[in-house]
Amino acid sequence: MDDKASDHATTATPNTGLIARWQSVPLYARIGIALVLGVMVGVLLGNEAAVLAVPGKLVLRLLGALAPALILAAIVHTFMTTQLGGPLAARLPRLLLLNTLVAITVGLTVANVIQPGQGAGLTPPQQHDETTKTANPLALFLENVPKSLLGPLGDDGKVIGVIFIAVAFGMALRKERERPLGTVGHLVELFLESLIKILHWIIVVVPLAVFGIVASIVGTEGFAPFKALGMFVVSVLLALAIQAGYYLLRIRFGSWVRPADLIRGGRDALVMAFSTASSTATMPVTYAALKERVGLREQSASMGALVGANFNNDGTALYEAMAALFIAQMIGMNLSFQQQLLVVLTSIVASVGAAGIPEAGLVTMTMVFTAVGLPVQYIPVLLTVDWFLDRCRTAINVMGDMNVSCLLDGKQKERM
Ligand code: ASP
Repeated sequence: MDDKASDHATTATPNTGLIARWQSVPLYARIGIALVLGVMVGVLLGNEAAVLAVPGKLVLRLLGALAPALILAAIVHTFMTTQLGGPLAARLPRLLLLNTLVAITVGLTVANVIQPGQGAGLTPPQQHDETTKTANPLALFLENVPKSLLGPLGDDGKVIGVIFIAVAFGMALRKERERPLGTVGHLVELFLESLIKILHWIIVVVPLAVFGIVASIVGTEGFAPFKALGMFVVSVLLALAIQAGYYLLRIRFGSWVRPADLIRGGRDALVMAFSTASSTATMPVTYAALKERVGLREQSASMGALVGANFNNDGTALYEAMAALFIAQMIGMNLSFQQQLLVVLTSIVASVGAAGIPEAGLVTMTMVFTAVGLPVQYIPVLLTVDWFLDRCRTAINVMGDMNVSCLLDGKQKERM
């Protein structure tokens, strides 16, 4: 069957018009609708709503499965395509690491001081999940959704998992089957693009997951967790604002650029980052703004905006660390100093590995949680606010790239 025929086969169903209309609503509005419906259903059903948590778990499982492959492809792609070398490149890693460490420290400090998750009183997940799964068909289904992309291909013998993966890649590659692959670079690009396509399919289910998770939490735990979520949003915004202040101060004292000029010259990039939630999509605009409007040297603009954009995701690092602490506070689990240190380390890796696309931070967050033994079941709670916080942290990711470019440009403006 060719593409047209298969498209026709799917458009023939009577519901497709409704689905297409639903898909044309922006994601944030779909999530908003799901949120309201979830609250209503949760209030109506009470404890019965607990089963509705399944789509949330499914989305999480899929995001988690995608994470290692996405990190692998993103980092391979970056190293293959970026110009490394030169004196500026030698200064770059130090600048990047310092900024990311500051971001995580700011995030953890704000989360420790404000304690947004305190008093939410979520019950920690019960271990009996594991034992009841054989009796419950939904749990059985979830069990067959691969936890990782490569796992089922190894020796865990889950054939259904292999089928899931085969179908996902088969669908993602349908339109690419005629694409000529001349070089290894093309192959890596194709792999990365397919993963991003699959990620977008998972994002389509996010509103359903939000609906289910909100209904089940409101039904079983009431509204306290959502008050906490509001505090979390405020705390993240505060931490991101502090990080932005730090960038501007460093620019003021470490480069010739005046902070107000940077904001004026770079506002297109910042607005675009906020509206697309993708620092990669914003990359060309950031580069052009730095070079043409702010007046940085070509090399420093490209080091910060192009190389930095791939590795430097301070907003994401800050967010992941805060999210880990927040969920720990919500379930009354105390993270020791060592565990918080582990959060710092894994957040660095997770932010470097996060591709500059919407929701990438959520994908790599499972890694941070697993490292410190936090239950990943509660990450879906964050789905309800992630569409907004993603935009805010993306703007900070881009501002971090601008900061690095300005510092690399030094205290002397290039003579024209
Ligand atoms: N959306 C972010 C970016 O493009 C990544 C993230 O999800 O944190 O920079």
